[in-house]
Amino acid sequence: MAIIHFPLKLTARRMIAPTVAHLSFVREDGQALDFIPGQFLQVHFHYADGTGTKRSYSLATIHDHAIGAGETVEIAVSYVAGGAATALFEGLDIGGTVDASGPYGRFCLMPADANQRYLLIGTGTGVTPYRAMLPQLEQLIAQRGIQVVLLFGARTPVELLYGDEFRAFANKHPDNFRFVPCFSRELPAAGSPQAHADVRHGYVQQFLQEFAPDAASDIAYLCGNPNMVDACFEALKTAGLPVPQIRREKYVSSK
Ligand SMILES: Cc1cc2nc3c(=O)[nH]c(=O)nc-3n(C[C@H](O)[C@H](O)[C@H](O)COP(=O)(O)OP(=O)(O)OC[C@H]3O[C@@H](n4cnc5c(N)ncnc54)[C@H](O)[C@@H]3O)c2cc1C
Repeated sequence: MAIIHFPLKLTARRMIAPTVAHLSFVREDGQALDFIPGQFLQVHFHYADGTGTKRSYSLATIHDHAIGAGETVEIAVSYVAGGAATALFEGLDIGGTVDASGPYGRFCLMPADANQRYLLIGTGTGVTPYRAMLPQLEQLIAQRGIQVVLLFGARTPVELLYGDEFRAFANKHPDNFRFVPCFSRELPAAGSPQAHADVRHGYVQQFLQEFAPDAASDIAYLCGNPNMVDACFEALKTAGLPVPQIRREKYVSSK
């Protein structure tokens, strides 16, 4: 089947960490973008030698419905040194367009799941699918009283993407949603708004045990750095979670 491409026009950019940009676009063709939270877009472009290439970006948009015509399509892009897509996004002016396709992927909450708890685990921009899932999680909390633990790995407090939003969601749902930032290098200063009893010092995989993964109640989602995804996958299998209850999205470059 032919892939449908569409132009995305940049409408806003803000840095949400020293090397991560939150980018807002609108579809310039005026069409809606029907997506399921957890899915990603692909951005198509050319290297200097004219060879075509593409990169994938999870949709970060918080919507309790499809993205309607004229509504914002949001992604978070981690800038990597020497990266081809990084150069494309860094050089994109407001009003400029990129060539996109999608949405793609099955890293989504499944309507047939009847689990009692979600373990959502991410590093860096790998947390964006969980941001997009917040309205669905809120519905599931209201409908089925589910529990959610979000383990988010970042090196330092300034790299805790959307940390305020996840903390606000946790404060709104104190009995159902735990937000556990795991800092590998530097902890928030004592007394700062980020300092919280649920903050941990280390890598996300070091803290899985604390939440006693349980095959009878849990479905886990792993997203971001491939090494983290592999380490958590092994740890969750060892803890007894069957493979279908461990869903993965690895942020590998598709060059
Ligand atoms: C399904 C899927 C969803 C994704 N979603 C996102 C997303 O939401 N946000 C996002 O920022 N990225 C996401 N990625 C990764 C993204 O597609 C690109 O790989 C990334 O933006 C780097 O592209 P680039 O062209 O700038 O770098 P490239 O030209 O591909 O790589 C340049 C150099 O940087 C290294 N490199 C590549 N990625 C990283 C990294 N993350 N950290 C350190 N070094 C790196 C490469 O090994 C290479 O040496 C996703 C990937 C997949 C497969």
